[in-house]
Amino acid sequence: MRIITRTEPTVEMQDWRQVLADSFRDSKTLLEYLKVDPSLALPSDHSALNFPLLVPRPFAEQMEAGNPNDPLLRQILPVDNEGLTQNGYVTDPLAEKHSNIRQGIIHKYHGRALLLTASACAVNCRYCFRRHFDYADNRLSREERQKALDYVRNDPSISEVILSGGDPLMLQDSALSELISGIESIPHVTKLRIHSRLPVVIPQRLTTALIERLNNSRLGTSLVLHINHAAELTEAHKAPLASLRSGGTWLLNQSVLLKGVNDKLSILTDLSERLFTFGVTPYYLHLPDKVEGTHHFDSGDIVGQDLYRQMRENLPGYLVPQLVREEPGAPFKIPKMSFELGH
Ligand SMILES: *Cc1c(COP(=O)(O)O)cnc(C)c1O
Ligand code: SF4
Repeated sequence: MRIITRTEPTVEMQDWRQVLADSFRDSKTLLEYLKVDPSLALPSDHSALNFPLLVPRPFAEQMEAGNPNDPLLRQILPVDNEGLTQNGYVTDPLAEKHSNIRQGIIHKYHGRALLLTASACAVNCRYCFRRHFDYADNRLSREERQKALDYVRNDPSISEVILSGGDPLMLQDSALSELISGIESIPHVTKLRIHSRLPVVIPQRLTTALIERLNNSRLGTSLVLHINHAAELTEAHKAPLASLRSGGTWLLNQSVLLKGVNDKLSILTDLSERLFTFGVTPYYLHLPDKVEGTHHFDSGDIVGQDLYRQMRENLPGYLVPQLVREEPGAPFKIPKMSFELGH
């Protein structure tokens, strides 16, 4: 579909930064590209557009033309319902402002410190629990990154550093490598984890340099992808994920249970099976956080628990992600599995 106006390498060979720069940034253009009624686009002064549409082309290419209910489209298309306020839905449901004890660090759980590595993302997900988060306050300069590392260095109980964001893979490979070296220099840290959706929406982000850096780290490395639907995994993901896996990097996935996107047994089992063929283990299935403007994505705990029970019936245990909800102040993500049988 895409009109290539310059002589340029094939999409697979393109630099990820160029792919990112070519992203869709307004609903109308995206809907026209998808041959979906462009009048579904919100007027430009709608409050939902404080968090504007942002979709890289490789992700848009996975959407079905002509289908306004495509599960990938629903994840990223701003809709009118986001303007609704709902009891119990707030801008900071996890009270992260309180655990954001030092610029750029969220240290909520024992042994694990989360580093807010980059302030931006390659895609704006409408359900995002950080859509109201004040990233401007957490854009780390080199000096601040050093301070965050000092925090980890001064707390011997921290054995795992988690790079999060925004999206940590928004950093260039060189900056990321420097940061990883800093983490490797802290003797009590043994594990490095990266949570990212960037390679899902731009497979080119899994550069050879990144793969080698992770595979050759002295730390035990894992990459947690954020994939919500089987259609998000493409042929272009196969080789780089295989290289990571054969090089010793653990591949995990976390999803969010989203109404109208993946709140159906067949969709969730297809996702688990597809993750398996790509060497990725399902880790968490999150019940959505109660973030203002995202109420329409919540299928409710009962639906989630029922789906969980049916997944247990239909899949090997290792392909069933843990159903959890994050609760402010809790020492871990709270399991929400239901074990009641026979209903
Ligand atoms: C989710 C999360 C972690 C990691 O939790 P795991 O259960 O180990 O995956 C760590 N810190 C914060 C702030 C988190 O939100
Ligand atoms: S990539 Fe993750 S942090 Fe970024 S908008 Fe999507 S869900 Fe939110």
